[in-house]
Amino acid sequence: MQQPHLPDRLGRPLGVVRLSLTARCNLNCPYCRPDGQEPPGLLGVEERRVLVAASVDLGAHTVRLTGGEPLLDADLETLITALQPLRPRLRRIALTSNGLLLSAERAKALRQAGLDSVSLSLDGTEAISVARMSGRRDGGWVLEQVLDAIDHARAAGFDPAQGGLKLNAVIQRDVNEDQVLPLASLARQRGLELRLIEYMDVGNRNGWRPDQVLDSATMVSRIHSQWPVEPLNREAHATHRRWRYRDGGGTGAADGPPISTIASISEPFCGDCNRLRITADGFAYPCLFATSGTDLRPWLLPRPQPAALRLALANLWQARSDRYSEERAELRATASSHTSLPTHAEMAYLGG
Ligand code: SAM
Ligand code: SF4
Repeated sequence: MQQPHLPDRLGRPLGVVRLSLTARCNLNCPYCRPDGQEPPGLLGVEERRVLVAASVDLGAHTVRLTGGEPLLDADLETLITALQPLRPRLRRIALTSNGLLLSAERAKALRQAGLDSVSLSLDGTEAISVARMSGRRDGGWVLEQVLDAIDHARAAGFDPAQGGLKLNAVIQRDVNEDQVLPLASLARQRGLELRLIEYMDVGNRNGWRPDQVLDSATMVSRIHSQWPVEPLNREAHATHRRWRYRDGGGTGAADGPPISTIASISEPFCGDCNRLRITADGFAYPCLFATSGTDLRPWLLPRPQPAALRLALANLWQARSDRYSEERAELRATASSHTSLPTHAEMAYLGG
């Protein structure tokens, strides 16, 4: 059964499922702040497969595996293999990772299991910035690991020119804003798309303040002053804006931009959001900034009930009216401080 265009209350179809595999992480990025605790009742491979299958039945075409750090999950390759029968309706299986555990062997195993793309997170090209942004003293070692991970992913067949390999960078004002140009330079040299992410108010532990946000227009203008860029058309249901270098530098991808920005704070994109988030313990969140989720385990344990689960997910999606980023912008325009904004689930639990 497939209902490809199941709309929510704002007319947005389900397109992408972000499945968190663990809330644990081997980094401690201060802007994310995982607490090192796994929630009780983690789902297994079969429950996760059934969840993705139900989402695909409702129109999802992409699953993004995330965390915490998804490479900490020893069953990751088994899950990717188990998702293959969902093709071709499931068009893309993607992974977001900090890359620390992406050895040459692991990259090959993931590719062989059927993973389509890898987004690696790196917030600087200098040890001191990487240390600050990753919460680790050994920033130089972390940087080397991620640079090696880029090479391993490419060697395993994750091709940046086909959108198979990207770099994600969170930029925080006064913390690593000096890394925008070095990161752009690194991405240009290596032919990678660089996705610049505004620091977001996800979770409650990171102590987010509006003055810590560097807006994406400033990031892009800094790059523009060094290597002129021009905007590309925005894709339907994309949460990012795309740019290309006038000198043709960057990815060399026919449809992939060398630069993209996620401007959740300065230019909210709720009207295009087609993402459903599912935590490692089986809670569905219709928005990255939702205060609570829906427990899907009654339809998954002790054994999965696919038809009932599909109905529960359809009901959840059809009731969805979240547009937090836009509301935040409206609230901030009228409120004296952001303390009036609601609390959220933590990023390492939700998976971004
Ligand atoms: N551990 C993996 C990683 O870092 O790529 C996957 C999980 S992480 C939660 C997913 C993405 O969320 C990463 O690209 C990370 O940089 C981003 N992220 C985490 N906290 C953020 C925040 N407060 N604002 C913006 N992006 C954030
Ligand atoms: Fe870990 Fe990713 Fe969060 Fe950093 S952003 S602490 S790597 S889950």
